[in-house]
Amino acid sequence: MPTSSKNAPVRGVSETDPRVDAVRVWFRDAGRDLPWRGRTTPWGVLVSEIMLQQTPVVRVEPVWREWMARWPTPAALAADTQADAVRAWGRLGYPRRAKRLWECAVALVADHGGEVPSTLEELRALPGVGDYTAAAVVSFAFHGRALVLDTNVRRVIGRAWRGEPLPAAHQTVGERAHAAALMPADDAGAAEWAVASMELGALVCTARVARCDECPLASSCAWFAAGCPGLEAAPRRTQPWHGTDRQVRGRIMALLRAASSPVNITGHAALADVAPGQLDRCLEGLLVDGLVTRDDATGRVSL
Ligand code: SF4
Repeated sequence: MPTSSKNAPVRGVSETDPRVDAVRVWFRDAGRDLPWRGRTTPWGVLVSEIMLQQTPVVRVEPVWREWMARWPTPAALAADTQADAVRAWGRLGYPRRAKRLWECAVALVADHGGEVPSTLEELRALPGVGDYTAAAVVSFAFHGRALVLDTNVRRVIGRAWRGEPLPAAHQTVGERAHAAALMPADDAGAAEWAVASMELGALVCTARVARCDECPLASSCAWFAAGCPGLEAAPRRTQPWHGTDRQVRGRIMALLRAASSPVNITGHAALADVAPGQLDRCLEGLLVDGLVTRDDATGRVSL
C-alpha cells in the first residue's frame, strides 16, 4: 500500500532501528498495489490471506476478485453451500482451504454478527485461522501491532540482521523475540513494517536471488557484507507433482467441479491411467476431508 513519495519522513517512530525505517520508506514507492491492500474490508484481507497461504499472488489475484464480487461479506458466502465454495476455489490448490473458509464465514455470521473480529484471540478461534493468519489480519486489516512472521520476513531479518542465508525449518523462541524487538512501537508503524518487510522478501530478497543493488538494506546487511555465503549449499525444497496423490486429488476435484451431476470416479475414462489403489486412496482422503460426498446407493461422488 504505497502511500507517499520516496523521500517522505517516517511517521510516529523515533527509536526504531533505522533499517526498519528504511524498509518502510522503500515500500511506499516500491510496494505492489494489490487489491487486498488498503482498499478492501477485513473480510477481503482474511480471504486473501487464506488464499495466499500456499498459492502465489499471480494466481490468487483473479480468484480473489471473483470471490469478492460474488461473496463480498461473510454472510454472502455462508448463505451458499460448501460445494459452491470448493467449486469457486478453482485451481488454487489445497481445496481444504475453501472448506475452512466457508466454515469460517458460517462462524463469523453465528458468533460475530457477520463481521471479522479484530483481536488475535477471536481470530485464532475461527476455522482455518492459525497464528500467522490471525496476526496478518490484525496487521493488514486493522493496522494493529502484531508479529507477522512469514517466510519472507524471516529471510529478510535473518540475512540483514544476523547474516543467515535462509531461515531454519521452524521458528525458534529467540527468532520470534528478535523479530518482536524490531517492530515499531506504534500500531501504524508496526503494520507498515510488517507489510514492507514481507514485500522486500517477496520482490528483492527472494529465496533464490538477492537483488542487493535494489535493496534499501544493502549498506547495512550482514549477509551482503559477508559476501552472501552459503546459499548454494542450502537444500532446495522441491515439490514433486506429477503422479503424486496431490495431483490425483486435484484431478478428481477438477472433474467434480466441472460435473453437473454425481460422477463414477473409479470407472471414469479421464482417470484410467491412475492405479486403482492410488485412486481409491485419494478418493477416500477427499471423503475424509469432507471435500466430496458419496452416494452409498450408487457409489457416485459429488462436491
Ligand atoms: S542487501 Fe541483499 S541479502 Fe541483504 S536484505 Fe537486501 S537483498 Fe537481502
